[in-house]
Amino acid sequence: MLATLAAAWLFAQVPAAADAFAARFTGRTLRFDYHHCGDATHEQIAPDRYRLEGEWAGSRTQLVDDAATGGLGYGKYRFVVRDAADATPLFAQGFSSIYGEWETTGEAKTSWRAFHESQRFPEPKAPVTLHLEKRADDLSWREFWSGACDPASRFVDRSPVTARGGVMPIDVKGDSASKVDLLILGDGWTGRQRDDFLDDVHRLTSALFATEPFKRRRADFNVRAIMAPAPQPGITDPRGGTFVDTPLRLQFNAFDLDRYMLTFANLELRELAAQAPYDALIVLANTRKYGGGGIYNLWATCAADTEPAAYVFVHEFGHSFGGLADEYYSSQVAYEEFTPAGTEPWEPNITALLDPAQLKWRDLVAPGTPLPTPWDQQGYDALDLAYQKRRAEALAQNADDATNEALMREIKASGGAQLAKEPLFGQVGAFRGAGYEAQRLYRPSVDCIMFTRNPTAFCPVCERAIERVIDTLTK
Ligand SMILES: [Zn+2]
Repeated sequence: MLATLAAAWLFAQVPAAADAFAARFTGRTLRFDYHHCGDATHEQIAPDRYRLEGEWAGSRTQLVDDAATGGLGYGKYRFVVRDAADATPLFAQGFSSIYGEWETTGEAKTSWRAFHESQRFPEPKAPVTLHLEKRADDLSWREFWSGACDPASRFVDRSPVTARGGVMPIDVKGDSASKVDLLILGDGWTGRQRDDFLDDVHRLTSALFATEPFKRRRADFNVRAIMAPAPQPGITDPRGGTFVDTPLRLQFNAFDLDRYMLTFANLELRELAAQAPYDALIVLANTRKYGGGGIYNLWATCAADTEPAAYVFVHEFGHSFGGLADEYYSSQVAYEEFTPAGTEPWEPNITALLDPAQLKWRDLVAPGTPLPTPWDQQGYDALDLAYQKRRAEALAQNADDATNEALMREIKASGGAQLAKEPLFGQVGAFRGAGYEAQRLYRPSVDCIMFTRNPTAFCPVCERAIERVIDTLTK
């Protein structure tokens, strides 16, 4: 009897939620473009324009992400849309940004920069207000910008999106509203290399769906691809002296880090992507040189032809899709204080362990596990330091791709074997060293895809964080 009642209640709720969406929104996507500018102590938003895109690909029932009500609560920033008449929140999602990373670099202490960004939300039927919020040190949100948006106004560009490159369905399993729509963009392939791009898409998505939790949730994903032809193969590599005018302007050496691959051409990327419904973006580069990047709720990038490309693809998607932090701490980064001292990071897979009793993944820790959890950090650091030194030498000598790949294979064999010998390998605890901090931050497991290139699995904490995002997009 109880089961029957519960089923009847559930049945009644589904159309109600759909009706609630239809009452407020048109079913299409509205994009707000703006410039995010400032330096280490100033932060400004300069609105650019509004753009009407196609079908809304996200959930129609999970529209307001709020950790207080069981939402994800990931991201350094949050975008909120409110009803202009009564301030009811209609849509909210967390995100991180290039600006948010850049403001923690040394350059931000001496100069201003501006980055073009976009927020996408379901097109409302009535005027709304838009709000940008940023994390305070206690992880609560502080609004730092707001503006009015009338979707019926002449300031919304409603012209058709320009067709370029063609949308290629890779594996489309169902309705965008209840699937994770993954869109893969290609940069640096010429028109004659389209089949090469498609081979790379199939190879790398196969690697992703061989990794949990993506493996068991394969049926929840639609995959599409778009490739706008480039004039010549490859992408911009400033340290190699190569500059190429590719459609998405993907480039190495972001923040002057050789292997950090980003694009600063947000408008070009958004206009190309707007041809297809999408919840998540990955931009592939036609290059063998090792590199990639991933920023939460923005996109991931990956060098498609580097030897560890499958690893890079999955790791960077862990950042952009799962909101995961890097668990490593010794590699060279540009950030001076990515997580301020004395604060708890928002990312679900690293912690400052300020209060071990309140560890955010404590339900996954076996009773009796010490916190912090012991491991031979000194032994690992000695090995890693020697590797970092050789890597720096290879960079200084502009070593070729084969030499760099051989070095990565070597460290994978020695470092992976050393970590696998740890007595608490495979268990969940709080292991010191994470998030670019050797002392102050802790990670959930000895090894994980977010820590080294050794494993083929995420640690249980990362796996759960990713699955929560899948759940949110498929309800
Ligand atoms: Zn992990």
